[in-house]
Amino acid sequence: MTKLRLDVVGDPISHSKSPYIHETVLKELGFEYEYRKVQVKKGELSKYLFEAKALGLCGFNLTMPHKTDIIPFLDSIDDEALRLGSVNTVKIKDGKFFGYNTDALGMVYSMEQKGFGAKDKNIVILGAGGVALALALKMAFEGAGKITVLNRTLSSAENICEKVIKENGKNCTALPFEKESLQNAAKGCDILINCTPLGMEGIDADFEDLSFLDNLNQESLVFDLIYNPLETNLLKHAKELGLSTLNGLDMLIYQGLLADEIFLDTKLDLVSLKEKIDYVFKNLKNF
Ligand code: NAP
Repeated sequence: MTKLRLDVVGDPISHSKSPYIHETVLKELGFEYEYRKVQVKKGELSKYLFEAKALGLCGFNLTMPHKTDIIPFLDSIDDEALRLGSVNTVKIKDGKFFGYNTDALGMVYSMEQKGFGAKDKNIVILGAGGVALALALKMAFEGAGKITVLNRTLSSAENICEKVIKENGKNCTALPFEKESLQNAAKGCDILINCTPLGMEGIDADFEDLSFLDNLNQESLVFDLIYNPLETNLLKHAKELGLSTLNGLDMLIYQGLLADEIFLDTKLDLVSLKEKIDYVFKNLKNF
């Protein structure tokens, strides 16, 4: 059997948990494989792409800061990835690069597993970076009733809202990331998603005030995309208030499984593979 070669590419990359996901799947399916973490700095993608082809890679996963920068290098881009403006999975076939986005569907699957969907919901997104943009658009495509984006740099939140309204005509409001706006946005919110790195391991910043959580309904979901630590202060406080909570690990796992379906060009048994990956993560030391 030929060895499958895959990479995850980003900067920084040493912290990436992607190998645990893909190695579990490839091992389970009986492949011989090599899955590398490759540090590629911003602006150095073209050199990496040349190497990836020369090494005969089957594809690679992309993380910060390359999810948008990759687009001009692709030979073809999937419709959803194009609409979201973000690519996290590239398949290499016959020397050509094909781009996809599995982050957004991974997020939808992880919310569904928790019993939450976006349809007609009032959704509040904290942060307006690359992931916030893709998630806001995906929430709009999934039929969200209302979206509010709060960000430290207001213009980035406004850009997201402009795109959501242009693509989908949805109700989308941009607000500054400040105590009063957080308090107001939380009133009537069904799903609050943290797309900032506040509270993440290795980041020297956290929410200064979590009192906005008091304004959420008891039925609300607080979703933190961070998975290291598994329980941020945001989630801990939400749990103490009796709210539903979700960390970013399931999203990470689902985006990886969906990427493997693309690399291997086959439907996978997501339920059974997810269980096996959960087991691997549960038994990881220092996680
Ligand atoms: P990004 O493009 O760098 O955006 C970061 C966002 O956070 C920006 O809106 C930024 O605001 C805001 N921010 C940063 N520091 C802040 C602070 N001290 N106070 C308030 N706001 C702050 O990052 P990204 O790629 O969108 O990723 C966002 C988060 O999602 C990260 O924590 C990442 O680890 C996580 N993530 C998880 C998954 C998963 O599978 N679970 C996948 C992808 C990403 P400004 O615009 O003002 O700078």
